[in-house]
Amino acid sequence: MEHPDRPNCIRDSAVEIEVVLPGLIGEMALDHQRFSRTPGRASGATRGEIMDFSLSEEHRITQANIRKLCERELEPIAGLIDREGRYPMDFHRALGREGYLGALIPPDFGGSGADLLTMYIVKEELCRVSAGVGMSVAICALNFCNFLAKLGTEDQKRKYLPPVISGEKLASYCLTEPNAGSDTMGLQTRASRRGDRYVINGSKTFITNGPLADFFIVVTRTSGQRGVRGGTNFILERGSPGLSSGPPFEKLGMRCSPTSEVFLEDVEAWPSQVLGTEDQGFIDMFNTLDAERSLAAATATGIAQACLDASLKYARERVQFGRPIASFQHVQAMLVDMATSLELARTFAHKVVWLYEQGRNINRQAAMAKLFASQMAVRAGLDAVQIHGGYGYITEFPVERYLRDAKLCEIGGGTTEIQKNIVARELLKN
Ligand SMILES: Cc1cc2nc3c(=O)[nH]c(=O)nc-3n(C[C@H](O)[C@H](O)[C@H](O)COP(=O)(O)OP(=O)(O)OC[C@H]3O[C@@H](n4cnc5c(N)ncnc54)[C@H](O)[C@@H]3O)c2cc1C
Repeated sequence: MEHPDRPNCIRDSAVEIEVVLPGLIGEMALDHQRFSRTPGRASGATRGEIMDFSLSEEHRITQANIRKLCERELEPIAGLIDREGRYPMDFHRALGREGYLGALIPPDFGGSGADLLTMYIVKEELCRVSAGVGMSVAICALNFCNFLAKLGTEDQKRKYLPPVISGEKLASYCLTEPNAGSDTMGLQTRASRRGDRYVINGSKTFITNGPLADFFIVVTRTSGQRGVRGGTNFILERGSPGLSSGPPFEKLGMRCSPTSEVFLEDVEAWPSQVLGTEDQGFIDMFNTLDAERSLAAATATGIAQACLDASLKYARERVQFGRPIASFQHVQAMLVDMATSLELARTFAHKVVWLYEQGRNINRQAAMAKLFASQMAVRAGLDAVQIHGGYGYITEFPVERYLRDAKLCEIGGGTTEIQKNIVARELLKN
């Protein structure tokens, strides 16, 4: 039954749940009071509350603003920067000026103090126009800034957050190694204590922003050979003797986002450069990166939205056999599948964000959301190319880029198979 006051709300006579997801960007402040932290809310559905899947007014404003900025300044160059493999630093700085890079960071450190759904919206809108930019931004805003905001000392936050939030400096997050991808615990980069400092040796690969980054969070092992204990995270700066990055990799997709190896040869680091607690680095990483994991699906939903928008437009305009191809049932079926699975992926992804904000364990749901959304985006990319026919195969239309970009969703930040392992493990627990 429809809620009498709110046309988009479904009201059930037995259970009414209200999910209020506020969040503001820029000059607006986060209204934490309205967020569902009232007693009983954290335990989920509560009698007398209403389930509301619509975005709040603040979220809609954020969405409209970031969309406008992307359409005005990013869309005209999105194809070009992909072909040239060039990261648009001017646009990145514009994002900093508008407050998007520090969306999650408290205002004390130059951030906007918004909620996670705001960040989801920002990431999705960026990826809708250029998933490569969305990926580089996410590394700065989430893997670096959010990690630092949660684990860093006061001095570290004051030193590193403002320049990254403003967009003046680029950051990277260095976990993967040539012999340790899915098997993160097998990483071999070693930080050894020598006198009053550490000496770091090893190499990292597939590092987003690696060729351009000013700051690097580097995950190392300080003790033991395997297992979750014995890891330590460091913040390192470009220019540190022994730290270097390789040339940008040539990639299938996400081509404007620079990716490279990062080499560490006898790099000296002071205890003040340890991020979090020595030997607890892996545990810190797993706990802190939940926020990043809860947003993983945003890349996929952004790309799939772009596929759907382009396909709808093309299907209406392209005429064959004297009719728009949108009138053919096979084309309609692809559009329907695309729109339906996108809606499912996004709604579920928003639920994962909500669960995270409620302080719930999101292991199973975050993996499910990434798994489903990633496969959905690749399917959307394939269908978008199919709907465009030969024009989908050439670079004049952006759908071939969407398809190339979408494939990374199934690899980066944990492959599809690893997400399945997580879901299976959680399902079979106990
Ligand atoms: C463009 C790009 C950007 C990236 N950015 C970053 C970054 O900024 N920072 C960073 O640290 N890393 C980054 N990565 C690394 C990324 O997270 C890894 O590529 C990913 O985790 C997979 O690791 P791998 O490539 O070593 O593949 P592997 O782990 O070698 O996997 C190869 C295949 O084996 C399968 N497989 C492996 N183990 C299992 C298992 N137990 N069960 C079933 N199947 C399995 C995988 O699913 C996959 O199909 C990036 C990668 C790319 C391509």
